[in-house]
Amino acid sequence: MSTIAERTRTATAQIVDELGAELVSTDPELVLKMSSDWSRMSPVLQEKVPAGRYLADAVVRPRTNAEVAAVLAAAYAHDVPVTPRGSGTGNYGQATPFDGGIVLDLRALDTIVVNDDGSITAGAGAKISVIDTVAREAGRDIWIYPSTKGTTIGGFVGGGSAGTGTIQRGTTTDGYVRAVTVAPMDGTGSTFTVRGDDVTPYVHAYGVTGVVVEVEIETDPARDWTAVYASFGSWAAMTEVHRSLLDLPVLPRLASGDEPALVPSLPAPVDLDPTQHSLRVIAESSTVPQILERVRAAGGSVVATLDDYEQCDKVSSMSYNHPVFFLQKAHPDRTWFHMETGGRAHWEAPDDVRAAYDGEVHLHLELMGTAPLAMVVAPYIDEEHVLDGIPRLEATGLGVHSPHQWFVDRNVELARATARTTDPKGLLNPGKLVADAPADTRVNIGVR
Ligand SMILES: Cc1cc2nc3c(=O)[nH]c(=O)nc-3n(C[C@H](O)[C@H](O)[C@H](O)COP(=O)(O)OP(=O)(O)OC[C@H]3O[C@@H](n4cnc5c(N)ncnc54)[C@H](O)[C@@H]3O)c2cc1C
Repeated sequence: MSTIAERTRTATAQIVDELGAELVSTDPELVLKMSSDWSRMSPVLQEKVPAGRYLADAVVRPRTNAEVAAVLAAAYAHDVPVTPRGSGTGNYGQATPFDGGIVLDLRALDTIVVNDDGSITAGAGAKISVIDTVAREAGRDIWIYPSTKGTTIGGFVGGGSAGTGTIQRGTTTDGYVRAVTVAPMDGTGSTFTVRGDDVTPYVHAYGVTGVVVEVEIETDPARDWTAVYASFGSWAAMTEVHRSLLDLPVLPRLASGDEPALVPSLPAPVDLDPTQHSLRVIAESSTVPQILERVRAAGGSVVATLDDYEQCDKVSSMSYNHPVFFLQKAHPDRTWFHMETGGRAHWEAPDDVRAAYDGEVHLHLELMGTAPLAMVVAPYIDEEHVLDGIPRLEATGLGVHSPHQWFVDRNVELARATARTTDPKGLLNPGKLVADAPADTRVNIGVR
């Protein structure tokens, strides 16, 4: 029996013959870079999937949907694993090629079309920041984008879940994705398009059900947005305003809150008092006076209101996982981990949440449709300590999703059933669709 490395050489020789030598690279530096992702944010994953432990045998960069289909046909013919990749910012190690083979770099698929009804059809490799620029020029707002706005739409649909826009529009499985065009790993060398509910098996499936080559996403008519910065002397005062934002006449696009320990490392364009709790909102501009009134009524201070759309991007780039990343970056001498939790206890019983981990614990909040999502941040001791906190967090009434695991954890049964047809040999992103994975843990934090 030949090795995967040998079979990859055969498959890539076929790809070179059929599509051209420029698609294939075995440059060791590139292979190393393309074989790891942002799992380094998790000290647990840092130990289990450090950069360099699992390496692809080749990087292939197709330019069209047809080329993706042809690459998969060659890989199928020679039993070569294929791991799709966008920008590699997934933070669960989910773009790591555990079995080697081909890493499929999809960034060259970067077309963007605004359709007559305002929806946008984009190639999997199109950057969300570029899609957003095109959308705004066409008078549209894309429903959701992650704090990593420079990442690809295929990667966000394949491995992301929520972000700016989620308060109103939910997550990537709440209608955001209108249609996907998929290249299956079934030897046909073809693509197919599914719409509506049929897109679900391909969303947040880490590519195990097929390679997404094109995505149609929902947009709204563009609105004017304002970046609002406020500070508070206490968590209670900050969260009083945070929770009140759900009854604004137009929901904010984003509302992030942090405890003082997380504030100094935030790269804000305005001065943030490191002793204060920080609230940052992307507010629909007509609601700003109401928000400012609420800030003052809760005893807080308005730090700034900035109308420029680019300022809203800055607020977005300090949301979701980013405060954890900035804290880690500011303290290279220390190791921090985070847990993703969802529920009202962050507002109502924050001390119980903090008590889940002894000692120093900091909370970062994001507003979602009915309750907040949080990153519970604490110093890292070992994996056991990380996992021991989960039942204690759950005892406070919170749902918990551990970011220290790489397997598909959303609509798992559906992914399994779909992959039986679209990837009968199990060649797509091996090791991510695992038999004993706890199913659908993301539901715990409000992500279906
Ligand atoms: C600091 C930080 C902040 C983050 N903030 C957010 C956030 O706000 N919201 C959020 O949802 N996520 C967030 N993430 C996670 C991640 O950045 C996003 O989900 C991002 O959109 C992933 O896109 P990517 O192009 O980097 O995908 P990659 O990391 O390259 O891929 C992600 C997964 O999707 C698969 N994949 C990639 N392209 C395709 C394709 N075309 N077809 C099928 N499968 C594919 C990959 O195999 C992998 O399993 C954050 C990560 C970091 C490090």
